Amino acid sequence: QAKAQGKNQFVIHTSDLSDEMISESVLEIELRNALENDEFVLHYQPQIHTVSKELIGFEALIRWQHPRLGMLEPGRFIRLAEENGLITQIGEWVINEACLQNKKWQHAGMTPVKISVNLSTQQFLTRNLISYVEEVLDRTALNPKYLVVEITENMAMEYEYSIYVLKELKKLGIGISIDDFGTGYSSLNYLKNFPIDYIKIDKSFVSELMNDENDAIIVVATITLAHNLHKEVIAEGVETQEQLEFLKKHNCDIIQGYFFSKPLSACEIEKVYLLH
Ligand code: C2E
Ligand code: MG
Ligand code: MG
Ligand code: MG
Repeated sequence: QAKAQGKNQFVIHTSDLSDEMISESVLEIELRNALENDEFVLHYQPQIHTVSKELIGFEALIRWQHPRLGMLEPGRFIRLAEENGLITQIGEWVINEACLQNKKWQHAGMTPVKISVNLSTQQFLTRNLISYVEEVLDRTALNPKYLVVEITENMAMEYEYSIYVLKELKKLGIGISIDDFGTGYSSLNYLKNFPIDYIKIDKSFVSELMNDENDAIIVVATITLAHNLHKEVIAEGVETQEQLEFLKKHNCDIIQGYFFSKPLSACEIEKVYLLH
């Protein structure tokens, strides 16, 4: 907040800036060095077949191991990274790290599973996304069927270009998910024209499933819609046995959530899935 002090004189009093503003700008500066300093890590949340309980894959979720503040969740820094454009580089790091890790697990003898990565809108609209994914697949020698990218409905705003990108990504052989389904700006039109493999029901619908009839109706309708369009459905944020039973009864294909497992470090994943 700038205050006028006499004619043409403006002084910014730091006491007027909230702690939050100061820490955001400090965080932004630190974010610029976080890649170089190797401070990002991926955690992995299991995705399970609803009926057989078979492991289908993991969603890779970024965390920032901040030197002073400890482990920061994406809610603390992804928006900042989007605002200052760092998100594209960070997103490339995520794709590379997820593919490397998946390949490592396969080498170590784990049953091959899919790894899903979240794409930001900016990253999705970056010209070299397709060639970057192709390069990582080549270099890591990961079979493309074990990579899935998660996009959101908001990316469908650039309609023609989005169809082009998705078709090119499909040509590489990877899978495509629509994340946070039903929470963004969109028309259902894209479901018809986009080459999508999975629809992820947002956790905001799942969390009130047993208490709010409207959420239950939306979830059931989404599953029916997805199946009629030959897509698989993943429910995220499944926390209780009741939610699981409901989703199973209504033929949801895959579940992800704290009920089964929180996101785990690579090391924890190995303890559960490799060394038993
Ligand atoms: P998302 O892609 O919808 O990921 C699901 C979020 O729900 C994750 O939060 C996950 O930890 C959380 N979650 C999973 N199961 C449960 C549950 O049972 N209950 C509750 N309450 N939460 C659950 P997280 O890791 O904090 O990530 C938040 C968002 O940040 C993600 O939402 C995604 O939009 C974004 N994000 C995460 N990693 C990346 C990344 O590498 N790149 C980009 N661009 N965005 C990312
Ligand atoms: Mg996601
Ligand atoms: Mg999601
Ligand atoms: Mg979500």
